[in-house]
Amino acid sequence: MKVRSSLSQRLQKLPPYLFAEVDRRKKAAIQKGVDLISLGVGDPDQPTPPHIVEAARKALGNPAYHKYPFGAGLKEFRGAVAQFMKRRFNVSVDPSDEIYALIGSKEGIAHLPLAVVNPNEVVLVPDPGYPVYQGSTLLADGEVYHMPLIEEYGFLPDLDAIPEPVLERASLLFLGYPNNPTSALATRKFFEKVVRFAKKHQIVVAHDNAYSEMYYDEPPMSFLEVPGAKDVGVEFHSLSKTYNMTGWRIGWICGNKDVVRQLATVKDNFDSGTFEVVQSAGIAALTGPQACVQEMRSLYKKRRDLFVPGLKDLGWNVKMPDATFYVWAHTPQGLSSMETVTHMLDQTGVLCTPGHGFGPSGEGYVRFALTVDVSRLEEALQRLSKLKW
Ligand SMILES: *Cc1c(COP(=O)(O)O)cnc(C)c1O
Repeated sequence: MKVRSSLSQRLQKLPPYLFAEVDRRKKAAIQKGVDLISLGVGDPDQPTPPHIVEAARKALGNPAYHKYPFGAGLKEFRGAVAQFMKRRFNVSVDPSDEIYALIGSKEGIAHLPLAVVNPNEVVLVPDPGYPVYQGSTLLADGEVYHMPLIEEYGFLPDLDAIPEPVLERASLLFLGYPNNPTSALATRKFFEKVVRFAKKHQIVVAHDNAYSEMYYDEPPMSFLEVPGAKDVGVEFHSLSKTYNMTGWRIGWICGNKDVVRQLATVKDNFDSGTFEVVQSAGIAALTGPQACVQEMRSLYKKRRDLFVPGLKDLGWNVKMPDATFYVWAHTPQGLSSMETVTHMLDQTGVLCTPGHGFGPSGEGYVRFALTVDVSRLEEALQRLSKLKW
């Protein structure tokens, strides 16, 4: 039998993977023996805190956890989530029908359009934004409308600028603050506007709060803090960045129970739940000592306070981020994102991510991830100081 060799029409709709060229050059540089300083990928460099690893080690011996986990997640996990949402945001979510465990928040985000979007309906997607919002929309036969995030508005989208005919066909709005890649925070006023907007146009709101604990001064808010938010939307949370658990694959959705139930229906058909050993680790993370989270924040603060002023001294147009481990910088000398990344990589071995990979409005920016220690950041600045554009 001959295997069908053409991509499905759905896969053909996905835009070209813009990071492929960067990946290729990165591999070539490593082959050549370049001492690469990788500030590209947003993956914490620190290990998962030991008390969380220990909880998983203990849970591993429990035969009950060796079976299909199916469904919303352990009662204790959902209880821990409810406690966290209350303690941290003063938000009440009911563990019985407003919380659902995910295999990482990416999994839930990627499946959401299948649960709430009909073919040819519009999904409002932030530009620049986490690429999964766009990919999942296209794979669900939805249509992407890019909302530019405007630097003068603190990288919030201008909801009033979305044309009426687009709004009539829109069924889902993705947002994510603290923001990847711009590192911006939302304001309460903006979230209040989002609730009014979503009610008026009957649009489901999906707020991605993966970086809620990765901040420098003011703790960021939950979208669900705003009155009426639960009527219109859900929020995605992740243990990945808060507890250095990207490899474990655990997160949750919470908020509007109809949306939660619809996503659960998609998941019932695609997966069999989150490994209960991993959920046990999640319970330990959420209910255990939180000193590790404060340590994580201090670590990134040291790095930020070295790297961002260093870049400024070298003439880069860049602001101090208030949250996330990302630094979103204008490209120097009016170069394109790609020119900047490839020139920097070739001349210095310092790798960052081209902004246009996050959407057309990311052109003219690059993203640095603060995922190496202070001495390597010093080395990166040292190399960049010798770079001729
Ligand atoms: C890292 C990240 C996530 C978290 O993904 P997980 O699947 O939970 O590891 C979600 N959204 C954004 C914007 C991210 O950068």
